[in-house]
Amino acid sequence: MVSELATWHGKSRSDINWHPIVDPKKCTGCGMCVVTCGEKRNVFGYDRSLRKAVVLNPDNCMVGCNNC
Ligand code: SF4
Repeated sequence: MVSELATWHGKSRSDINWHPIVDPKKCTGCGMCVVTCGEKRNVFGYDRSLRKAVVLNPDNCMVGCNNC
């Protein structure tokens, strides 16, 4: 986990259940979530063989954000 994302308002991020889940049946493989939160936050990766987004680091997701 990126160190500055390890806590949220003093609480350990790993104790907060807030993160995206990719439903492969619904994912169209557009990659927008990977572009948005793949590089800096490293939440997502992209499985090129399946052409689907995958969640790599769920605890890097910003608590309260629901953009994706
Ligand atoms: S909810 Fe927000 S912070 Fe979390 S992965 Fe999606 S866009 Fe990124």
